[in-house]
Amino acid sequence: MDVKKRMTELVNLLNQYNYEYYILDAPTVSDIEYDSLLRELEQLEKEYPNEVLDNSPTRRVGDYLRMDLEEVHHSAPMLSLANAFSFNELIEFDQRVKKVAQNATYVCELKIDGLASTVHYDQGLLTLGATRGNGVTGENVTKNMLTIKKLPKVLTEHVSLEVRGEVFMDYATFNEINEERAKNNEPLFANPRNSAGGSLRQLDPEVTRKRNLNHFAYSIVSPSNYNLHTHMEILEYLKVLGFNVNPHYRHCQTIDEVIDYINELDQLRKEIGYPTDGIVVKVNELDLYDLIGTTVKSPKYMIAYKFPAEEVTTKLRDIVFTVGRTGMITPNAILDPVIIAQTTVSKATLNNEDFIKKRDIRIGDYVVVRKAGEIIPEVVSVDLSRRSPDAKPFEMITKCPACGSQIVKNDGEAEHYCLNENCEGRKLEAIIHFASRETMDIEGLGEKQIELLYQKGFLKDISDIYLLKNYQSELLELERFGPKKVENLLNAIEKSKDNPLDKFIFGLGIRYVGSKIAKILSSIYETITELSKTTYDELIQIEGIGEVIARSIIEFFENQQNLELIEKLIQYGVNPKGTVKTETAPVNYFNGKTVVLTGKLTRFSRDEASELIEKLGGKTTSSVSKKTSLVIAGEDAGSKLTKANELGIEVIDENTFLQLVEPYMDK
Ligand code: NAD
Repeated sequence: MDVKKRMTELVNLLNQYNYEYYILDAPTVSDIEYDSLLRELEQLEKEYPNEVLDNSPTRRVGDYLRMDLEEVHHSAPMLSLANAFSFNELIEFDQRVKKVAQNATYVCELKIDGLASTVHYDQGLLTLGATRGNGVTGENVTKNMLTIKKLPKVLTEHVSLEVRGEVFMDYATFNEINEERAKNNEPLFANPRNSAGGSLRQLDPEVTRKRNLNHFAYSIVSPSNYNLHTHMEILEYLKVLGFNVNPHYRHCQTIDEVIDYINELDQLRKEIGYPTDGIVVKVNELDLYDLIGTTVKSPKYMIAYKFPAEEVTTKLRDIVFTVGRTGMITPNAILDPVIIAQTTVSKATLNNEDFIKKRDIRIGDYVVVRKAGEIIPEVVSVDLSRRSPDAKPFEMITKCPACGSQIVKNDGEAEHYCLNENCEGRKLEAIIHFASRETMDIEGLGEKQIELLYQKGFLKDISDIYLLKNYQSELLELERFGPKKVENLLNAIEKSKDNPLDKFIFGLGIRYVGSKIAKILSSIYETITELSKTTYDELIQIEGIGEVIARSIIEFFENQQNLELIEKLIQYGVNPKGTVKTETAPVNYFNGKTVVLTGKLTRFSRDEASELIEKLGGKTTSSVSKKTSLVIAGEDAGSKLTKANELGIEVIDENTFLQLVEPYMDK
């Protein structure tokens, strides 16, 4: 990528979006799309500090000023806030704060999605109201602010002070205004924030009055003048003076308490009727502020945690194809990096040709990408209003991207396949799959290492993994293969020989045989040799195995190359045993139960927990229904827990689960 070009592109794009957002009050992209582009620019600027452009939006507070409103110079700058898009980033913020201020505690407040404002009072009387503007100079909107009912015009005390807060519009008013505008054929406001912005920055205060704006106060300029030492004291004093202070704030002693509170508020904010876009976390002790400091754009003693979005629009830069271990060809979207559900996503699956054609997805389009839970991000739809006129319809490739042989698509199937058994791409993917965590779990043999060993000729197929011990000195010469690493790797390879049969079967990469089917097979067949001699008729008798899977298993073992591979593996000492004794599985709490796992478990991975339940005679499913016998609810359990409670299904927490399974866990 041409970094300089990309940085210029980002600066221009973000400045254009700022103009649309702040001046026109009519954004054309979502906040999360804007935030993701800004984050990309910030990262590039960090890596290439000499290339930073003078007009970069990272160098200033975003707002612009309307020329027809009188200017107001702020007594103290009105800054923006740094963002955190994950709990990890909050923890990093805490570490930065604690480095200089060990005793800091935090106050969490809802981040109201409105317009920053400042209001001056002289002897308790409102004298001036202004917008944030560019942070140094704002716009005089006193007459308009006087129309806000919840903003006190006279304080309960005769004090002179300056109060900062947020002017906002609730959803009910926003909907009413847009309905009215639709009737009058006027353009609609994109969201309540822009509607509040447009309403406050009016030349005619009567228009503002009709817009029913609201106000929350959250800080006082120069608090020490009023003998205030903590942010909590500021909030309490604001209430005494008659200000509307948002009630959902909390003093938290640690960042863990902050995270707990965020989880609580995430639910609540959906029910409160006015827009919020995150939580502001502020150091409570005001005397620490100077110590912690500020940047040109934002204070370092506060951060805005932004609620994660699960669906985001971003630009589709390219479509690239990969070949999997079974030969399946997958088209993948290469995206402008975007933050979805707490992670940066730059690649998403497009599944297959039909999927792309049905949605008419084209390179250069703006696409909606979804990432829910742990599912791989997926392109859901196209924003056709932003399509470039020269975008060309998608055309499927005809040759395998790895080996160049013709790819085929069978009748009734959506996917294309590369049928070349010796395709380098397929072989490489097969080795990666075999060594991965869910299958043979060989630590130190990840995608990168396998690619390197494959390129260097040490690995040609799966069985070569078990010959690596003969090349110890050659391995030591490779980049990033130090003596300790090589020793650990070879030990991990040896250890993998003791894996149970189901991991091995899953690792072989038989089409349609995932971890569940592999478990069923390993409870019926004692060894891989026994399985390789099975028949179609025998297989379809097994519960959970249908015709397609049975046929695929038979085809796999009819293939001479696969049989040779298995023979080699057995010869090298990989010959795991099955668990042909389900009837003797210990009778216990989980026996015969259908169990659903939900929320975050802290002591087990999902796979480990499922494995334990299955070992104890239970079965795990993914959704809660009347057939569910038990729900294990980890942290932040959501809709599944609610449903379980509604249906009266037994629910236990992770601690109880641990107590029940502990006696059966491998020590
Ligand atoms: P910001 O909105 O991320 O945070 C700073 C602001 O938060 C403050 O100025 C204040 O007004 C507000 N705030 C709300 N509650 C608060 C509280 N309790 N305590 C303190 N402050 C509180 O930063 P910004 O510079 O105002 O705006 C930038 C953001 O605006 C971007 O991150 C993006 O989400 C959005 N934006 C979107 C577009 C677009 O085209 N969609 C363009 C520009 C900006």
